[in-house]
Amino acid sequence: MEKIAVFPGSFDPFTIGHAEICRRAADLFGRVVVLVSQNSEKKTLFSAEERLEIARAACRADARLSVALCEGTVADAACALGAACVVRGLRDSADFAAEARFCGAMRELGAPEVVLLQVHREYADVSSTFVRELFYYGRDYRPYLPEAAHESVRRLLQQKQK
Ligand code: ADP
Repeated sequence: MEKIAVFPGSFDPFTIGHAEICRRAADLFGRVVVLVSQNSEKKTLFSAEERLEIARAACRADARLSVALCEGTVADAACALGAACVVRGLRDSADFAAEARFCGAMRELGAPEVVLLQVHREYADVSSTFVRELFYYGRDYRPYLPEAAHESVRRLLQQKQK
């Protein structure tokens, strides 16, 4: 039976690494809802609406994927969607420590099971932080973003430069 997995994060912006996790989670569970955080302690380059637009463009071609703003806690959003699990990606030991804390918090808040997917080697060095640095230095960021999101990102960055 098809299950729903939620994939929460800040996605500032959504990268090819995020896309790879979405694809693998969809293969495992059937449906994936990308939950874009709006709260975040983190100061983001793109607003929640902009991050939503980029993630939507990136996911549009795969009918198994959808994108929503995360209202309230991830645990509440996951339960409201009837999700079977919360998916996260693991790149390295720093991610492992952060994700272990995340799992604890999710359990505390009554979220469904957290499933951590080990990132394939070719995506391990991709991060939203790295992509933002490429923006900053005017370097080519396109190899790290899903092609379907290039146009949205180009336009949103151009608007910021005005
Ligand atoms: P957060 O602020 O919640 O960490 P991110 O957008 O940075 O949000 O990451 C969301 C999730 O995607 C996290 O589980 C993170 O480990 C995972 N992730 C980030 N980069 C990659 C990548 N290159 N490959 C796979 N997963 C990744």
